[in-house]
Amino acid sequence: MMADPSTSLFSLEGKTALVTGASSGLGRRFATCLSDAGANVILAARRTDKLDALAEDLRSKGGTAIAVAMDVTDQSSIETAVKTGWDEMGRIDILVNNAGVAVTKTALDHEEKDWDFVMDTNLKGAFFAARAVANRQATDQQGGTIINIASILGERVLKQLVSYAAAKAGLVQMTKALALEWARYDIRVNAIAPGYIITEINRDFLTGHSGDKMRMGVPMRKFGEESDLDGPLLLLAGEGSRLMTGTVLTVDGGHVLSIP
Ligand code: NAD
Repeated sequence: MMADPSTSLFSLEGKTALVTGASSGLGRRFATCLSDAGANVILAARRTDKLDALAEDLRSKGGTAIAVAMDVTDQSSIETAVKTGWDEMGRIDILVNNAGVAVTKTALDHEEKDWDFVMDTNLKGAFFAARAVANRQATDQQGGTIINIASILGERVLKQLVSYAAAKAGLVQMTKALALEWARYDIRVNAIAPGYIITEINRDFLTGHSGDKMRMGVPMRKFGEESDLDGPLLLLAGEGSRLMTGTVLTVDGGHVLSIP
């Protein structure tokens, strides 16, 4: 008998998801989308004040949500947050490694602190968050799914973003390496590589004059909206992607196909 795709493949009822960097932008959207699909969510970011408001908002819509403090550049903070989330929710099925930062400087101006800031957050932080969750998932043998938020700059490059592009390229390779090692535990590891997605912090720039010029470089002639990532996220989070691991879903209106 054919399964009903609307209920079984994309429903996250009974699952728990932890989203890093959930206090703003895409992370906030990912957490809301997962909650709307039925998942219990653990909202993680350095400061919990904004997270508390989002958790309250999700609970008012009938969801289950808690906020935990997590600085992904601090391993003990990652361990504490994952333990708290796991203990309070019973387990963690889905991890969305979303926390990310960028330093916009020429390569010659990049200092060690800039390089470390971006690498420690975008690559090392994602690895240790994945390891903390996967350790528990491997132990309880219930499997899991990890979704790393990469970027098209993990494949193509732009000037003044050397550390960001290198970290995202590393995140793509890390996705594949972890998928290979953790398949035996039924832990799937995939990535989403967004192009330019309009969020609160870049809206003025992307929808202004400079944005217009950049938009013409996108084959579909448009930037993404946060909601454009809902489908890929739900696919990778749920049963619909049960045979997918080590993949990178590019969501960019064809941007990566065009010559920079
Ligand atoms: P954003 O700045 O709004 O969100 C980043 C989040 O990460 C924030 O909530 C921030 O508090 C959190 N964060 C930063 N450092 C952290 C740390 N040490 N510990 C815990 N949390 C930390 O940016 P965004 O546009 O929403 O980006 C989210 C992710 O999507 C990033 O990984 C980014 O690289 C990626 N991305 C964004 C776009 C885009 O166009 N918006 C495109 C491609 C990839």
